[in-house]
Order: sequence, then structure tokens, then C-alpha cells
Amino acid sequence: MIDVDVLVIGGGMAGLVAARKTSETNLSTMVIATGLGSTILSSGTIDLLGYLDDEEVKKPLEKLNQFISRNPTHPYAIIGRERILEAFENFKEKYSSFIKYEGNLETNETLLTPLGLFKPTSLAQSSMIESTKENLENSKVLVIGFRNLINHVPALIAHSLKENWGIDADYIKLEGNETQPIQLAILLESHSDEITKRLNDLNPGDYDYLAFPPVLGIRHTTEILSELENNLGAKVFETMSFPPSVPGLRLQQLLEQPCTQNGVEIRLGWHATEIKTTKQGCQTNIIENDTKREISSKAIIIATGQIMRDEISVNGEKNFQDTINAQMFHYLKTDSELRLVSNGKSFENIFVAGSALSERNMIGLGTSLTTGYASALKVIKYLKEN
Ligand SMILES: Cc1cc2nc3c(=O)[nH]c(=O)nc-3n(C[C@H](O)[C@H](O)[C@H](O)COP(=O)(O)OP(=O)(O)OC[C@H]3O[C@@H](n4cnc5c(N)ncnc54)[C@H](O)[C@@H]3O)c2cc1C
Repeated sequence: MIDVDVLVIGGGMAGLVAARKTSETNLSTMVIATGLGSTILSSGTIDLLGYLDDEEVKKPLEKLNQFISRNPTHPYAIIGRERILEAFENFKEKYSSFIKYEGNLETNETLLTPLGLFKPTSLAQSSMIESTKENLENSKVLVIGFRNLINHVPALIAHSLKENWGIDADYIKLEGNETQPIQLAILLESHSDEITKRLNDLNPGDYDYLAFPPVLGIRHTTEILSELENNLGAKVFETMSFPPSVPGLRLQQLLEQPCTQNGVEIRLGWHATEIKTTKQGCQTNIIENDTKREISSKAIIIATGQIMRDEISVNGEKNFQDTINAQMFHYLKTDSELRLVSNGKSFENIFVAGSALSERNMIGLGTSLTTGYASALKVIKYLKEN
């Protein structure tokens, strides 16, 4: 039987942020997950609040109180403004290795999407942050595509920039056999000089900006980007993308790296099926292929997401039980300590984080980041006191 202080069920943004935090306080922590979840599929940009009442939010911090008072069951309301700010600050300070996040909570950046539209967000990878509407207005933009790359149509982006926003934009398609963005990113990780060779004949220096799909490497994006800027004489950025997304993969790796460094074991393909809990601790049944395992822990953080959730039954003492079903958009209720609540009663040592907490259409990576961080603080406090 495996024995840890904290078991985190779910390996997306919420679970990995929580695991990093608990492992920093020397609590032995393990993360198990059936799969990679939705974090890796996301655009990798982190929204605090992108839209409110279907309207674009320009100043998310200004709108946060209004959002919280209108949505008292939303995780932001449960953890409160102060903790939200702390979680974002902690993320910007601590998650800065092979890729950095830029942006702030005061003003949303509006970044270029693969449809040639602009989407508001709070934090974006440094390779994407230049693609704001404000930067591109009054600029000349060359949208660059790759011949066989799926889900990226440079002509559409250039057309939309011109027609919808009056931005001077052209496009070209470079030769390339790779169809998948991740394949191309792996190739460019070591062969980005090929792009320089292919673009040099096209006078790239005549443009203010060169807009690439997000395929400029995985671990060496910053270096590739500045090398291209130096060689081509124009500013370079990556647009957002559809899934499967390279920025989503970068984010997933950025989140996993410090966990592994802190000694957190991350096990993929492990499905938690049942939790039995008493005041003394929790026993979790796991199925991995055909193998059954049991993990004993002092506390559990459930971070099983919203759209790729596998069922878990939760059994407390005296017929106190619940089922975390796999139904999409079924959200889990908690008390103010982020403890799982069933029929009005809280499970003492089971905490919840991430999009599993939130109703439909009211989630984003910001929810998972902030509640992952907050749930870890709750667990640390609980284990200190008990
Ligand atoms: C295509 C797409 C684009 C998006 N774009 C954006 C964006 O631009 N900006 C933004 O802010 N947000 C975006 N989002 C939303 C954001 O990605 C999610 O809200 C966030 O990633 C959820 O993180 P999470 O950790 O809560 O859950 P997930 O990342 O879904 O992780 C859930 C984890 O739990 C595991 N799991 C589930 N059940 C079990 C079980 N029984 N046993 C063990 N493991 C289990 C899963 O395998 C997975 O590892 C996007 C989402 C999608 C799908």
C-alpha cells in the first residue's frame, strides 16, 4: 500500500498547482490522473475574467467584486479576492523557467486568435503577449503558415485582420510536411534556422510583425523567438491556437516540472474509483489497467476537472456518502474551507480544486490556478491543526 500525506486526484492546472504548494511544506504528495485532462488542450492563456454578461472585460480586477457578488457559489466567491491575487502573484513569481508568463490582472490583453479575432486574457506566454490589437493597429503584419499544418489558415487570419480591424496584413505558407503542431514544434526546437532561410528571400524586414502559429519550440521558445527577430529584422509573435495546442503542452510541462523537482510522484493512467474516509485518514482505491492499488493519505485534493472526469464514489462514516459522477458540468459543492460537501455535511479531509468546482461557462485556467493554490493552503492548515 502506498502511504502519503496528501493525495491529489487530477493532473491538470488545479492538481499540479496544489501539489507543488503542499510539497513545498514537506508534505509527501502524490498526484494520480487517468489522463492529461483539459489543461493541455487549452490555449495556455490564463483568464481571470474574460467576459461578463457576454461582454468583453477590459479591467478584470475592477469587475471581480461585481462578478463575485452576482455569483456567490462561484469558486472565486468561496476563496475571496485576496487569495485570488496571491495565487496569481505566486504563479508569476514561481512559474518562470523555460517559458515565462506576462500580463497583469488590472487590464486584460486582447490577443490574436487563429480566426483572426482578438480574445481577452490576463496572462499569456511571453511569445504571445505582443499580439495585442493595440500593437497591431497601424502596423504591417505578415501571417506565416506551414503548408500541411492542421487547424491553421494564415489566409483567414490575414483576411480578418484586414476586413475586421483595418490592419495591413499579408500571408504566406512555408513548405513543411508536419501536420500536427506538436510535431512541428519538436522539429523547430532544433531546426529553427530553416525558417530564417525560407523567409529571408521574402523581405521580412518590410513588416513590423511576423505572426506565427504557436509552434516555435517547446522548451526553447524564448531563444528561438529572439533568434528569429535578430535574423529577420521584424518583431515575432505566436498567435493563439486550436487544440491540440503547443502552448497547452508548454503549460502542462511548466506545472509538472517543479512538482517532480519537489519529489512529487505523478502517475498517469491511474483511475481513482473509490475513497473511504474517516477522521483518521483516507483510503483510495485505484485501477491502473487491470491492477488494483490502494493509497492511504491524511488528506485528498480532488481536482478532476469538469469535462474529462471519471466517476469516484466517496464514503464517509455512518452512511455518509457521495458519488462524484462523470457527468459533464456536474459541479462539486464545498464549504468555505474548500471541503467536499454532500447533503449539507462536509467531508473532513477531502478538499476540492479546479474546474470541478464551477458551473458551466464560468471556468477558465484562472479558476484552476487560484483554487489549486487555495486548496493546498487549506490542506496545509488542516494537517497542522490535526
Ligand atoms: C479547448 C480548450 C480551450 C481552453 N482555452 C482556455 C483559455 O484560453 N483560457 C482559460 O483560462 N481556460 C481555457 N480553457 C479551460 C481550462 O483549460 C480548464 O478550465 C482548466 O484546464 C481545467 O483545469 P483542471 O485542473 O481543473 O482540470 P483538467 O485539466 O481537466 O484536469 C483534470 C484531471 O483529473 C483527471 N481525472 C478525472 N477523473 C479522475 C479520476 N476518477 N481518477 C483520476 N484522475 C481523474 C484527468 O485525467 C485530469 O488529469 C480551455 C479548455 C479547453 C478544453
